[in-house]
Amino acid sequence: MLIARRIVELRTQLAAVRAAGRAIAVVPTMGALHAGHVALIEAARGGLRDDGPAANAASPPFVVVTIFVNPAQFAPDEDFARYPRDEAGDLRCCQTAGADAVFLPEADEMHPPGARTSVRVAGLTDSLCGPFRPGHFDAVATVVAGLLNITQPDVAYFGRKDAQQLGVVRRLVRDLHLNVEIVGCPTVREPDGLALSSRNRNLTSAERRQALCLIEALREAERRIGAGQREVRPIVDAMRSIIGAAGASRIDYVSIVDAGTLAPVERIESTVLVALAVHFGTTRLIDNLTVDPRAGGG
Ligand code: AMP
Repeated sequence: MLIARRIVELRTQLAAVRAAGRAIAVVPTMGALHAGHVALIEAARGGLRDDGPAANAASPPFVVVTIFVNPAQFAPDEDFARYPRDEAGDLRCCQTAGADAVFLPEADEMHPPGARTSVRVAGLTDSLCGPFRPGHFDAVATVVAGLLNITQPDVAYFGRKDAQQLGVVRRLVRDLHLNVEIVGCPTVREPDGLALSSRNRNLTSAERRQALCLIEALREAERRIGAGQREVRPIVDAMRSIIGAAGASRIDYVSIVDAGTLAPVERIESTVLVALAVHFGTTRLIDNLTVDPRAGGG
């Protein structure tokens, strides 16, 4: 497995891979890898596409995992310093999962000193995490555009756990005509339903128990929609009371938005994203479910 810290090293290697006719798949991460990331690496190795396996699944793609905790996407009062880091564990995880290369740039490699360019995806970032994390999605879009430019992959894998990020990435790829296919992968959960997240490492055991209210609230919404409830307000109220009763320290939002535009809806007429962001102690967690009112949950 290649370990590259410099863009030039990675590009040299990828040029040889491309010349040999092999496809390139990229899995962007912030490290502290867990089974959710491993599922993305495995999807990449298997040549998975949004609409099933790739046609030429016979030759496995060259899988690059990128690990970069992007300082620009954290506000000064956020958890950049406390974000879990585990380079040795991450390298073992990538090796075991079958990655071909890991790209571990330093901040000044990704953002050359004096960099003044940013990519902004409007509209999709007006709701959900957007207002709570001003500038966050600009920094995400900018670093993802950079990583896609460095690696020039055929396909890149993102988790639906970060549904708004996935929407932003799909949109920037479309709007900037980037020649890459974006694949969204299902959220991997603990057996009790908590979505895997690197930030779960920062929860105390009491907070870990409280955090179960996230999936309980999401499933309550799914159940109500499945039972025919269409008004958003009582569903959100029920979700908020589940979260309040669990003793969360702060709710950023509990929202039901159109699954495509991410704009808030008042009545549920088509597929929606039920999403939330909640603080437990000093740790902020997000989760979501996609719910089709005609079919139940997802
Ligand atoms: P992160 O390292 O948290 O920035 O995540 C890197 C990628 O892994 C993103 O595309 C995330 O959406 C995805 N991811 C994170 N947690 C999960 C999970 N529990 N299941 C599936 N994908 C995930």
